[in-house]
Amino acid sequence: GTMTVGDLAKLLHKDASEVIKKLISLGVMATINQELDMDTILLIASEFGVEVEVKIPVEEDTFETVEEVDDEADLTTRPPVVTIMGHVDHGKTTLLDAIRSTNVTGGEAGGITQHIGAYQVEINQKKITFLDTPGHEAFTLMRARGAQVTDITIIVVAADDGVMPQTVEAVNHAKAAGVPIIVAVNKIDKPDADPDKIKQALTEYELVPEEWGGDTIFVNVSAKQRLGLEELLEMILLVAEVNDYKANPDKRARGTVIEAELDKGKGPVARVLVQHGTLKIGDAFVAGNTFGRVRAMVNDKGRRLKEAGPSTPVEITGLTEVPLAGDPFMVFEDERKARAISDRRSIKQRQSELGANSRVTLDDLFKHIQEGDIKDLNIIIKADVQGSAEALKGSLAKIEIEGVRIKIIHSGVGAITESDINLASASNAIVIGFNVRPEPQADLAAQQEKVDVRLHRVIYNVIEEIEQAMKGMLDPIF
Ligand code: GDP
Repeated sequence: GTMTVGDLAKLLHKDASEVIKKLISLGVMATINQELDMDTILLIASEFGVEVEVKIPVEEDTFETVEEVDDEADLTTRPPVVTIMGHVDHGKTTLLDAIRSTNVTGGEAGGITQHIGAYQVEINQKKITFLDTPGHEAFTLMRARGAQVTDITIIVVAADDGVMPQTVEAVNHAKAAGVPIIVAVNKIDKPDADPDKIKQALTEYELVPEEWGGDTIFVNVSAKQRLGLEELLEMILLVAEVNDYKANPDKRARGTVIEAELDKGKGPVARVLVQHGTLKIGDAFVAGNTFGRVRAMVNDKGRRLKEAGPSTPVEITGLTEVPLAGDPFMVFEDERKARAISDRRSIKQRQSELGANSRVTLDDLFKHIQEGDIKDLNIIIKADVQGSAEALKGSLAKIEIEGVRIKIIHSGVGAITESDINLASASNAIVIGFNVRPEPQADLAAQQEKVDVRLHRVIYNVIEEIEQAMKGMLDPIF
């Protein structure tokens, strides 16, 4: 729908002259009878601080939510994007630093390392992009915001310690995302290092080394003494080759914000990973609810770039505000369009925050099952002791209801954490707390993300609740 300047003014309870003035300030010359398009209408309404509810026809919306399908012929191989996860103190940060400094992007030596949320290394003339924030929390937070950034995860396990709770979390978070895992057995320089013990322990989580008939790649490394790093990088390239990661570099860029902040000198800066297309100086873009025009681009070696292709991390300036990590980033044909889209995004976001969303809860599980939109009921279990987590897992596995499968995507011991909620949000799961409660931040996150958290003290009650929910017999809660 379109309307004239006059119509819009009436709707906003403003003088037409005020609307015209606003339009002029945005660079649009208009008269009272001029027809305005939807973007402009939204833009003006938001300039006047008015919430507009728009019924956006699907067609109009597709260009921002649906990625156009690329012709196979336009795709070229892109570097894999890698995240390092694992238990605290097992050496994630040391490994990231070691890889960064060992390598040696040939001619690019001499630049000043910039921390821009990710970096690239080169081996055998092939590049690999590493995300600089280790840990599954950041990984899953991005996923919960809808960003799929990582191609391959490295799970670091200290050979002198063993498989720890956060190791298991990392494995489960990577699995829930369907991202291939390479295990880096770290600290092999230590006298008490026992890599075989790690391999043995991880078989319990279906990570079986190739020499034992499985298909998981294990690499022994010492981040501290820089041993095995080259082999690790080669293994990453191997996994990348098998999965054949590709993108079309010849189109407007799209990607994800990996970090953003307000810099005293530069203003808002965003560190983005370009995932499709090529980002160029001067490009008008939207990042989350904010927009801008690329003023300058710097890579992880401190080099100024004119353009950045798929899998390249860059820091950009030229934003109007600071976006959030995990926000989608997208180039548009011009700045006016970019601005209108970012405004529309904020409006839509506010609407969806107010409205219902599609997250599964036990109360509407049956409806989802009947409508055929869920086949797996994803569950996260947190229990006070390992024994009850296992018992609960066993009992849940026995539930058989036509058409749905129960999938325990993670189980662990201890309070329900924010990370559990993010995993649930990213994987559309429900959380069962058995003799444990959510941490305060987790409680908040669950409310915000509308994640269904069920607390119980008796296994029988959990089973009964899930069974009834699956059959649509759960008593509604008032
Ligand atoms: P993170 O918490 O997983 O990021 O772990 P860090 O990278 O901070 O490492 C924790 C500690 O382990 C630090 O004191 C590191 O120096 C040490 N460390 C990391 N890698 C190695 C290694 O390969 N060998 C030895 N001996 N120590 C290591």
